[in-house]
Amino acid sequence: MKLIIYSKALYATWVYYSPDRVLFDAGEGVSNVLGNKVFAIQHVFLSHGHADHITGLVGLVNIRNTAMGDTEKPLTIYYPRGNRRVEELADYIGRTNSRLHYQLRWQPLSVGQPIGVFEGQLTRYVEPFLTQHSRREPSLGYNIIEIRQRLKADYQGLSQAKIVALVQERGRQELTTTYPQKLFSYGGDSAPIEPEKIAETEILCHEATFLDDRDREGKNHSTLAEAVEVATRAGVKQTLYAIHISSRYRQQVARAQGQAQSAAQRLGLPFQIQLVPPGKICRYE
Ligand SMILES: [Zn+2]
Ligand SMILES: [Zn+2]
Repeated sequence: MKLIIYSKALYATWVYYSPDRVLFDAGEGVSNVLGNKVFAIQHVFLSHGHADHITGLVGLVNIRNTAMGDTEKPLTIYYPRGNRRVEELADYIGRTNSRLHYQLRWQPLSVGQPIGVFEGQLTRYVEPFLTQHSRREPSLGYNIIEIRQRLKADYQGLSQAKIVALVQERGRQELTTTYPQKLFSYGGDSAPIEPEKIAETEILCHEATFLDDRDREGKNHSTLAEAVEVATRAGVKQTLYAIHISSRYRQQVARAQGQAQSAAQRLGLPFQIQLVPPGKICRYE
């Protein structure tokens, strides 16, 4: 299981990315559903300060302190710099949790500020990008980026035996170059994300509050058609998860899922489209 998603517009949204045990947003009920997994989480990235994306933190911070598990692992909550709603919740949580066993940090983030989430053979980090949602408060989306290695252009096309010989002769460093690969992109609530910000990502979580274009209200949310267009222009490689779907479409999601998938095949899109039904806890490989 790679992703656990719960997303219902106006009620609650959160996305748990299990390879790095990272939580994106923390809508109501998140700790109740994740259970013991809350102890694995060390990084929470908030997209903005609306209640449906942050109220689950009250339970999460508390249960990580009181339930049976590793109650000493530090937790950092990252949020868009200058977001007053998040800072007010941080004040409240601080006042009502004066005896935490673990270190709780709140870290404001600006665009492009990288946060390391995995150190191993391949380094992974989370980098925020700007989204457009509310005029009253700053909002961010996030990319998980992996630093990968590949052969320099000069050496591509050589036989395997030749490459092995060259590595022995000149060293691996001389032959390879590193490049960033986006593994996962999360936009929170927003107008359509600018495709270049999430270019060539493998997995995109884009909001699709409105399945029907005619229902659109205002400019701070997206339609499913817009989410698909963003994914197409960005060159998403694997899957578009359409999240934040309004519960008015509860009965229509299954049919819309079938239509979206057959449209994707007809158009030859290189990625799958997965609608996340509002009000359902969804687990995806
Ligand atoms: Zn929302
Ligand atoms: Zn919102």
